[in-house]
Amino acid sequence: MPTVAFIGLGNMGGPMAKNLLNNGWAVTAFDLSESGLSDVVAAGAVAAPSAHDATSGADVVVSMLPAGKHVKSVMLGDTGVFSQLPKGTLVLDASTIDAAAARELHVAARDSGIDFMDTPVSGGVAAAQAGTLAFMCGGTAEAFLRAKDVLKAMGNEEKIFHAGPDGAGQVAKAANNMLLAIHMIGTCEALAIGAANGLDPSVQSAIMKASSGNNWSLQVYNPWPGVMDGAPAGNDYKPGFMVDLMAKDLGLAIELAEQSSVDADFGRRASEVYQSLQAAGLGRDDFSIVMQSLVKSDGA
Ligand code: NAD
Repeated sequence: MPTVAFIGLGNMGGPMAKNLLNNGWAVTAFDLSESGLSDVVAAGAVAAPSAHDATSGADVVVSMLPAGKHVKSVMLGDTGVFSQLPKGTLVLDASTIDAAAARELHVAARDSGIDFMDTPVSGGVAAAQAGTLAFMCGGTAEAFLRAKDVLKAMGNEEKIFHAGPDGAGQVAKAANNMLLAIHMIGTCEALAIGAANGLDPSVQSAIMKASSGNNWSLQVYNPWPGVMDGAPAGNDYKPGFMVDLMAKDLGLAIELAEQSSVDADFGRRASEVYQSLQAAGLGRDDFSIVMQSLVKSDGA
């Protein structure tokens, strides 16, 4: 049975590792924290005492860690995973990290003879559990062909994209999440204006969904409480996708825009909105809670 070494068994990594097990892969797992490990071990994974132990003998390595510094600390350096693995091993980093760190990892991987791809995901915890994540991959066409086999055990095959060369997955992810933040804020503003002028938010949502304002926030994530079954708005804005994570992703997008001399004005404004939600103590709420702050301040 082919083995995946999985590093980082948190909210996303845990269910992703379970889907690998369900699809016939053996999994050796490492996390600094015990809490994520117990769940995947109960599902059939073998816990390892270190990243080195988890990865030795593995056919593929997948990491799902908080940020670039964590991925670099696991992969790079004399005791890092890259330097310990046999040449030609496939390593996939599914974490959302800055594109510059991803490119640095590609260079280091190449120096060690490792086949590396940045493979960030979209879909959140629900899609990680359901095995329907979208993957956007950066690296060579050859590595992408190899990666697809593993990724389709955790994602929807039709949503596994080769975004382009080194770091392209992270660029696609940052740009996508910046657009998500902007259209979520725009959707909230439109609904707040409607409600303040006597419109029923359900009716207004149906109108905009059938009109040129249609977007993902309206289709599957309506931010007005009670308009859509299952949306975080109807569950007191429990995540879902946390404000803290959106703020992190917007930081990556703005950094990338600045490095690329792109004047992403709306992205910057969205970033300020999410930082102010964090400052108001709402970092662990769902990112659609921006609706609540508009309604309160406008008295809509
Ligand atoms: P999480 O904090 O729940 O999990 C991260 C795990 O990494 C933790 O269990 C932590 O103990 C472990 N870890 C940290 N440093 C480590 C190290 N050096 N060695 C081994 N383990 C280490 O985070 P998450 O929600 O699972 O997110 C993981 C990544 O996925 C992030 O980059 C996030 O931006 C991205 N992401 C999250 C979501 C979401 O909805 N949660 C959606 C898309 C993408």
